[in-house]
Amino acid sequence: MAGLTFKNVFKQYGKSAAQVFDADTTANLGADSKPDVDSTLRRVASVHNITYAVNDFSLNCADGEFVGILGPSGCGKTTSLRMVAGLEDVTKGQILIGDRVVNDLHPKDRDIGLAFEDYALYPPLNVFENIAFNLRAKQLPEAEIQKRVKEIAPLMKVEELLSHKPAGLSGGQKQRVNIARALVRRPSVLLLDEPLSHLDGKMRQILRTEIKRIHTQIKCTTILVTHDQLEAMSLADKIAIMRDGRLQQFGTPLDVYDNPVNVFVAGFIGEPPMNLHKVGIAGSDKEKWFTFPKGIKIRVPSKYNDAVREGDEVILGVRPTDVLITPDESGATTVPIAVFENLGDEKRISIEVGPEEYLTLITEDEKRYKKGDPIKLSFRETKTHIFHRTTGDRIRGKE
Ligand code: ADP
Repeated sequence: MAGLTFKNVFKQYGKSAAQVFDADTTANLGADSKPDVDSTLRRVASVHNITYAVNDFSLNCADGEFVGILGPSGCGKTTSLRMVAGLEDVTKGQILIGDRVVNDLHPKDRDIGLAFEDYALYPPLNVFENIAFNLRAKQLPEAEIQKRVKEIAPLMKVEELLSHKPAGLSGGQKQRVNIARALVRRPSVLLLDEPLSHLDGKMRQILRTEIKRIHTQIKCTTILVTHDQLEAMSLADKIAIMRDGRLQQFGTPLDVYDNPVNVFVAGFIGEPPMNLHKVGIAGSDKEKWFTFPKGIKIRVPSKYNDAVREGDEVILGVRPTDVLITPDESGATTVPIAVFENLGDEKRISIEVGPEEYLTLITEDEKRYKKGDPIKLSFRETKTHIFHRTTGDRIRGKE
């Protein structure tokens, strides 16, 4: 087993690093010059308006760790995984498995196991032979093949299916076989690309639990690519959140949930989503207020006293569970409840803070609220975030 490292990795589709480098050298610098590759790539990118599918991506997944790469469609997740697998070349930067740079290694020499969304099982072969396929290709002795398949089959709960053909299997069973086929190679790194996307809700949940169990048992370094934040949050030790080819944040699920570095991460993680609103700042040194378009004001937590001033405009971020109904003397504006939803244990309340703009809170309060009831709100001090209005970066208060 081994860890996995991305070191300043770039991917530009359509051109290899050498081609990008050569085109620029020939066009601008003459054949003899030896320009710096970094500045060449940057210049070529700006002149030709090139966008990178993966842009300066650095990450370290420790030995045995489970890392989820999460982000919206098209942000570069699959490309990153395919570069580890050797299915795409790396335009610039290095990928290491353990301490070995694998950029130029053939996929079969990289010691990886792959399971993609598309199961790609061989229809004429039964489950045993599907799982054994790569071992046979490697010409392992028959006894070793039998031993390994019989070891992995119960782990993936497919031992009853070994004589079945793939056509008769459910989606969940096919994906189990697919993962068994990856694991039977005893890879240093297991790569999973949206392995649960094809499955219905219940099966997805079952297999998610299974994947977690298997990882706890075999502790294989694992990279999971997913667009589903719940999947990443529940499975991974650490999550890498990507946007437009760039890494936004890398941390534990709790860390990215509690301490998002920017508005994008704040809005992407969490269900229901974080309330994010453009607000003004009013008030004096000791007592500052967030002001909303409808003239509503809610107190700014004191930790931000030195970080914002009257007249500033910021983006406020607060999760619905961190918005509190406060007593009358709080000084906050009284607002009527716009929407009240009773969801059983919890109640969801929304107030209108601007035209068609709602702030939502979730409370377990037993009180029977209804639409139109007046309430005053405050925000849980430690869980209130503010972000720069234009860059979207988090503004930190006193910890
Ligand atoms: P994700 O997995 O996050 O959905 P991808 O890694 O598949 O994103 O894609 C990242 C970017 O690279 C997208 O803009 C996509 O259109 C582009 N891309 C992916 N594969 C290719 C390809 N084979 N040729 C050209 N562009 C590609």
